Amino acid sequence: VSWTAERGWHDAVIKPYGPLLIDPASAVLHYAQEIFEGLKAYRHPDGSIWTFRPDANARRFANSAKRLALPTLPEDDFVAALDLLVSTDAAWVPSGGEKSLYLRPFMYGSEAFIGVRPSAEVKFIAIASPAGPYFASGVKPVSIWLSEEYTRAAIGGTGAAKCGGNYAASLVAQQEAIANGCEQVAFLDAVERRWIEELGGMNLWFVQDDGSIVTPELTGTILEGITRDAIIALAGSLGHKVEERKIELDEWRTGVESGRIVEVFACGTAAVITPVGSLKWRGGEIVMAKEGDATPVASEIRSRLLDIQYGRAEDPHGWMHRVA
Ligand code: PMP
Repeated sequence: VSWTAERGWHDAVIKPYGPLLIDPASAVLHYAQEIFEGLKAYRHPDGSIWTFRPDANARRFANSAKRLALPTLPEDDFVAALDLLVSTDAAWVPSGGEKSLYLRPFMYGSEAFIGVRPSAEVKFIAIASPAGPYFASGVKPVSIWLSEEYTRAAIGGTGAAKCGGNYAASLVAQQEAIANGCEQVAFLDAVERRWIEELGGMNLWFVQDDGSIVTPELTGTILEGITRDAIIALAGSLGHKVEERKIELDEWRTGVESGRIVEVFACGTAAVITPVGSLKWRGGEIVMAKEGDATPVASEIRSRLLDIQYGRAEDPHGWMHRVA
């Protein structure tokens, strides 16, 4: 779908996947005026196809658009565009085994000009790709590298928006994590370098010894994860009290050592929920779970959420949206 300042949204088309023709002076290539979303379509046991909370992705997309000075796409149009894409690609929605059709809607400034101002021409595009299970052979605890040099988002910055620029800035930290034998990177706040924010692509949770679960509060620098939000709603029915508050890095380290923190897990659309195995930094490491260790709270919430997404359990929150 195209947008221009004069005409608004127009010319919606659906066509086979293929390369885009893009002007070398396009705003997005120089000033990174771009936002995106990620969500999945699932096939239920009766063959029907559903997406998980596309309205929540539409809302976050609209907020990201505002922050990046992009035009707002009405939330209903966002959902309708994804419905059309998924129905067209219905044969590509796999069945069973934690497989899904991954959906990637995005929007970018396509006007050709050199100069820093919002683009007066914009494109909204959505692509789809079948996705296998995140864990090919059983859930494995993820290892995390603490980024002490880099931050992901500053106050007043774009941390709460899902824009390509945030990820561009995090690549070098992710590279450092891999170089240090870890799979994911954890970011601290940019001001005091003391509070835990999130991982490169997931939100974090801490399970306390009284069964309550804690996640860093939204401060404008953390992405408002839709899985995070779903866990907040689910936790009560599973008997867990939820706290959204600031968590210090020191509380993580000492909590694990003292036994006050009994599990740590991360959540996001791709992996749903993954237990955190270890946190490593220059000169130290704490281990929370090894492969094969039981992580009962992470496992319980993970199964509950997957059962709703794959249509194996009731959907009391009305999260699933039928596409076909
Ligand atoms: N934080 C970041 C930085 C992410 O990229 C993601 C993945 N979208 C998340 C958190 C988790 O968000 P969600 O549950 O909506 O996938």
